[in-house]
Amino acid sequence: MELNGQNFLGRDRSRQGEKQFQATNPSNGEKLLPFYFEATQDEIDKAVQKAAVAFPRYRKLNGETRALLLLQIGEEIMKLGEPLIARCCRETGLPDARITGERGRTVNQLGLFAGMLKEGSWVDARIDTADPGRKPAPKPDIRSMHIALGPVGIFGASNFPIAFSVAGGDTASALAAGCTVVVKAHPAHPGTCEMVAGAIHKAIERMKLPDGIFSMVQGASAEVGISLVRHPGIKAIGFTGSSAGGKALFDVAASRPEPIPVFAEMGSVNPVFILPGIMAEKGAEIAEGLAASVTLGSGQFCTNPGLFITEGTGEGDRFRQDVGEKIKKINAGIMLTSGISKACEQGILTLEKQRGVKILAKGAESGGFNAGTPYVLLVSSENFITNDLLEKEVFGPSTLAVTAAGKDDLVRIAEKMQGNLTATIYGNDQDLENYAELISVLENKVGRLIINGFPTGVEVCHSMVHGGPFPTTTDARSTSVGTAAIYRFARRVCYQNFPDRMLPDELKEKNPLGIWRLYNGEWKK
Ligand code: NAP
Repeated sequence: MELNGQNFLGRDRSRQGEKQFQATNPSNGEKLLPFYFEATQDEIDKAVQKAAVAFPRYRKLNGETRALLLLQIGEEIMKLGEPLIARCCRETGLPDARITGERGRTVNQLGLFAGMLKEGSWVDARIDTADPGRKPAPKPDIRSMHIALGPVGIFGASNFPIAFSVAGGDTASALAAGCTVVVKAHPAHPGTCEMVAGAIHKAIERMKLPDGIFSMVQGASAEVGISLVRHPGIKAIGFTGSSAGGKALFDVAASRPEPIPVFAEMGSVNPVFILPGIMAEKGAEIAEGLAASVTLGSGQFCTNPGLFITEGTGEGDRFRQDVGEKIKKINAGIMLTSGISKACEQGILTLEKQRGVKILAKGAESGGFNAGTPYVLLVSSENFITNDLLEKEVFGPSTLAVTAAGKDDLVRIAEKMQGNLTATIYGNDQDLENYAELISVLENKVGRLIINGFPTGVEVCHSMVHGGPFPTTTDARSTSVGTAAIYRFARRVCYQNFPDRMLPDELKEKNPLGIWRLYNGEWKK
């Protein structure tokens, strides 16, 4: 597929703008062609208008048709073949195997949503039949279900250029819900975005679906994204990226004449608590796993363990030293962009300047382009608890070891913590019994609790929660991974005293779709 740097306004291609930008290969600084044309206000308007016009028709398509669209998007992505992998590697510095895996994850994710649509019960149909003879007042017939919210604006992330980008979880869940989508492409991988947007369009054209279901605008400055969020035609936002970006877009959305929800997945430090019993039994093994998890993909995962908490001196000291020794043997890796590499360096400098923080170990510097050097830093619980800055994510291959004086102190650390995507507890049976209180505290802080495993590696499945209380997301009730992500882009509608023929199929008395429904308080098919 030939790249030409254009914006996708439904099926039309457009490059009206004067501002241009290029992708850069982060591993050698090579500037990559073509030039991309930042979308103008007029182009953004056209994309959103088309999404608004297509929405009423698209949302009414049955689940089978929307499922087929998702499957065909997956097929078209696979048809892009090696050129997609090659372009994505050049734009991100990520290795071939990682991008190939990410493509598989994306296609499987589309398939998972398709399966859910075919089955159909996701609409959560609830029916309370009428009782005209009820005294003192008759009871009406009331039925409700989820329907699509409207056109959605999606911001792709830099660190998952396929799985959290143009056809990633946000787009898949919005299209599955019946929403039309306008993507703001990530400026770090515009060519990958263009190729995937082309694949989505081929699937839409193959199925002869309405123009405007999907559009994508390019841009390397904040104005494009802000205009998209401000646009009155947009009814919700999905975002993955920095805290600053997510919060800025949330504020823009909240200040619109018609405020809209922003589902932003932002930073997380993903604390790992290693309890004394298991440390004595398996300390060396856990230290090895922790060092690998911290440095995986140069630490550029939102689930990267940026904090680990251990108790005591003797065994605890040995464990922390051990993690440090492992980290020293790991080389600096390439980071996704020069901005991310600089932010990582700056983040370590800032941490180092905080009261009581020491560098425990540093990985091997590579001297290469945009290298991210692994670090382990150390701080006591007292200093940690009194300094919010130590909970700020440093996006990259580093972790901060917090030393607790004992069990109560360790629980105090958990109580002080802000919202995170995950928390991990390493413990044997006895530890888990002794520290039940810790689990109870952490339930209030995170979206996913892990026992004896590392947080990196997020399974795409029906029960996954990739979310958590602020500041890790802007809505603690949401997940951006797994099929429950669909509910971000849907809302309930209730139909009172409707003739059966006028009800959506999901709510008709005879249940023609054969879905699970809450019928007079009982789950039935
Ligand atoms: P980002 O800077 O937040 O950018 C993500 C997207 O949002 C881009 O399309 C960007 O477009 C847009 N954007 C950012 N700030 C904006 C603003 N104020 N107004 C309008 N649009 C805005 O994230 P990134 O480029 O992926 O990575 C940068 C940092 O984000 C990393 O260093 C890391 O700290 C964090 N990050 C976190 C996660 C996570 O999973 N939580 C993932 C990736 C990155 P423009 O560039 O055109 O403004």
